[in-house]
Amino acid sequence: MLLRAEAWHPEYLLCWVAWRHRRGRHEDFGKIPMKIAETIEQVRREVAAVRAAGQSVGLVPTMGALHEGHYSLIDAARDQCDFVVVSIFVNPTQFAPGEDLSRYPRTVEADLAGCRERGAGLAFLPAAAEMYHPAAKTTVSVANLPETLCGRSRPGHFAGVCTVVAKLFNIVQPDKAYFGAKDYQQSVIIRRMTADLNIPVEIVVCPTVREADGLAMSSRNANLSPQERSEAAALHGSLQLAADMICNSAQPAGEVIAAMRDYLAEKAPSGQVDYIQIVDSDTLADAATAQVPALVALAVKFSQARLIDNMSIM
Ligand code: AMP
Repeated sequence: MLLRAEAWHPEYLLCWVAWRHRRGRHEDFGKIPMKIAETIEQVRREVAAVRAAGQSVGLVPTMGALHEGHYSLIDAARDQCDFVVVSIFVNPTQFAPGEDLSRYPRTVEADLAGCRERGAGLAFLPAAAEMYHPAAKTTVSVANLPETLCGRSRPGHFAGVCTVVAKLFNIVQPDKAYFGAKDYQQSVIIRRMTADLNIPVEIVVCPTVREADGLAMSSRNANLSPQERSEAAALHGSLQLAADMICNSAQPAGEVIAAMRDYLAEKAPSGQVDYIQIVDSDTLADAATAQVPALVALAVKFSQARLIDNMSIM
């Protein structure tokens, strides 16, 4: 047994600190006080203190209405970084006029409780005026990659995403930033932007988290009617159909897409297909022949929600 004086010996103290640190990473989530920042200055101050302590920083950018998909990113960030910043900002510049900005679900209290429970150190919830100065004239846009898939029906969307993500990278200056594979095109564009602008942030893309019936978790699922919700499982079903067809043998992409359209028409009649595409996973160029490896992606519009999903078939 240690005498009291020995317990304060620097070596014991160091061991105790290391043990508390490891233990804290696994058991004390929810007890560690999470800070909440609404201003850029607060974020910079908090991150500077973390950096001064020699700790690494992970950033998880979100628009809130958090679900297990988002929490999986926080878990990954927490596993790989000492300190996790979660931004919650429904970014107006990535919504085109007529899109669902006003209907976008907002569940701030539950989001903060979830972030705290999963071990985030800081939640950043800026107002739009904090992020966008009225005199601002600069946007960030990546060429070509936004001209396909979601970018076709959402003009300006990816410029809004890139601009806000670049700003968040500059505000937080994380070592790593975490994105979901569900938004596949977004992850490709953000990787490109980060490389092209020499931003010293490692981009980590995490797998899509799904409901039990295969539907990809999404904040927008809350805007589905019960009938639409039960039909929406067919999005994943149609991707599995494509995987079955492609794994057996190479096929003309058009035939696979036609089979997916038929499947969706039967299983999800309330939905309207926006696009189904089979593309190169790096360039996002349409493939004439569907064969492994392939990236199959789709978007389907329901009455109050446009859902996207994809499958990387290896
Ligand atoms: P959002 O709040 O929709 O902007 O999403 C924030 C981040 O969470 C993005 O990087 C998304 O790709 C990611 N994300 C959303 N849904 C899922 C999911 N079901 N599985 C994994 N990541 C997700």
